Amino acid sequence: MIDSPLLERTEGFIGGRWTAGDSGKRFSVLNPATGEELAQCPVMGAEETTAAIEAGKKALRLTPPFSIDQRRQWLEGVRDALKAEKREIGRILCLEHGKPLKEAEGEVDYAASFFDYCARYVDQLAPHTIPEKPKDCEWTVHYQPIGVVGLITPWNFPIGMIAKKLSAALAAGCPSVIKPAEDTPLTMIAAFQAISRHADLPDGMINLVMGPPKPIGDVLCEHPDVPMLSFTGSTGVGQHLIRATADRVKKLSLELGGNAPFIVFDDADVDSAVEQLIANKFRGGGQTCVCTNRLYVQAGIAGEFADKLAARVSALRVGDGMDEGTDIGPLINQAGFDKVRRHVSDALAKGGTLLAGTHPDELPESGSLFYPPTLVTGVMPDMACCHEETFGPLIPMATFETEEAVLQAANDTDFGLASYLFTADKARAERMISALRFGHVGWNTGTGPTPEAPFGGFKLSGIGREGGVEGLFEFVEPQTVPRGS
Ligand code: ADP
Repeated sequence: MIDSPLLERTEGFIGGRWTAGDSGKRFSVLNPATGEELAQCPVMGAEETTAAIEAGKKALRLTPPFSIDQRRQWLEGVRDALKAEKREIGRILCLEHGKPLKEAEGEVDYAASFFDYCARYVDQLAPHTIPEKPKDCEWTVHYQPIGVVGLITPWNFPIGMIAKKLSAALAAGCPSVIKPAEDTPLTMIAAFQAISRHADLPDGMINLVMGPPKPIGDVLCEHPDVPMLSFTGSTGVGQHLIRATADRVKKLSLELGGNAPFIVFDDADVDSAVEQLIANKFRGGGQTCVCTNRLYVQAGIAGEFADKLAARVSALRVGDGMDEGTDIGPLINQAGFDKVRRHVSDALAKGGTLLAGTHPDELPESGSLFYPPTLVTGVMPDMACCHEETFGPLIPMATFETEEAVLQAANDTDFGLASYLFTADKARAERMISALRFGHVGWNTGTGPTPEAPFGGFKLSGIGREGGVEGLFEFVEPQTVPRGS
């Protein structure tokens, strides 16, 4: 069991109070590196979710709208709370997710930076008067909080994903009902503990419920007083939320699956591209929606690129995230492990070559979630790894001859979240960027999202943006007030 000053109560949080709800049932949270039970959390459901929404409504009625200064103070308070407890939240995150401790602590910093960004820019949400006077009126635009919002997050960034949503919700003055993923609720509980100790939010402004997704999700979808949901997770669940909220015409912000191509042209700096790929691909053990899913290397440098990449992949150290020197932790659960194994087996069965890693037949059936980092070359479009998101430490490499061919291959997916392009030719980069149907195109970099820029997907990868000024406006309803004389 985990022992932490931030986990004295492993419970939900409703209306400013810790509560286990009424079910009397609990679910286990496991350490994926060891299989050890870390804690038991309460199974909460429809009743608790409804209570959390009511608490949010009360907070919204306190002094609507909360002033910009008030909201800035909350944002700074949450930022400072996360910074003050970075080590302990990072440790809990490492234990329940499995990612290396340094990466986990880095995620806490990353989370804090979203609150910092929103604090610095929240005054953009102040009302403003437009310069024209149409219809003989003076027109003011107010940015009203949309209302109580539901925030549903996945396990792959247990603190990063909620930070993106909660920072913008607080900036807008919206109370929230938060549901973390069942695999990683402890980081969220610890963050709530830190926030309630270090920041001064009104009761009901942030509420936490946890348990099986359906009863909680159904209430958030159907409740008339929740006008918006922000969700990060799989495209299938995102599509379900669209259907389930249709009758109430709710606003949705959805960050869904990806299928990121990483394209390297002959004129690119090979060493830099290899390093960028390693950092991009193996973050979180390959379990992020911006991790490269498909690698395309132009034929002239393919041999050199594959050799250098294989050497780097083989040198990565897989182990418990708490051990110093670990580059890659375990996968989150058996289903995640089985999916990677299926993709590698499928690619090898269809003619791929294993250049680094272990043949899937030599891996244990169960009992260990450590998947060896793997490089397969000779990848073809009909392989599962080309059209499904692997979400694990597999690099499938294909070669290409022409710009047109690689563009066609890269765009040949229903997804459009992140992509990466390596070329020294500016004109080619500009042609490619305008033709790539992805919300994020890293040019000579494998870097992912940042608080300062809007991030989100095209096509089945989602709706809306997180980060940047665009993200700041996600949780407000613009309201126009023409005033006659
Ligand atoms: P992943 O494949 O990354 O686990 P999911 O889309 O299954 O992604 O889960 C992401 C989040 O969505 C988790 O918090 C999960 O509990 C939640 N979720 C899953 N199904 C539903 C649902 N029907 N309604 C609301 N939330 C759901």
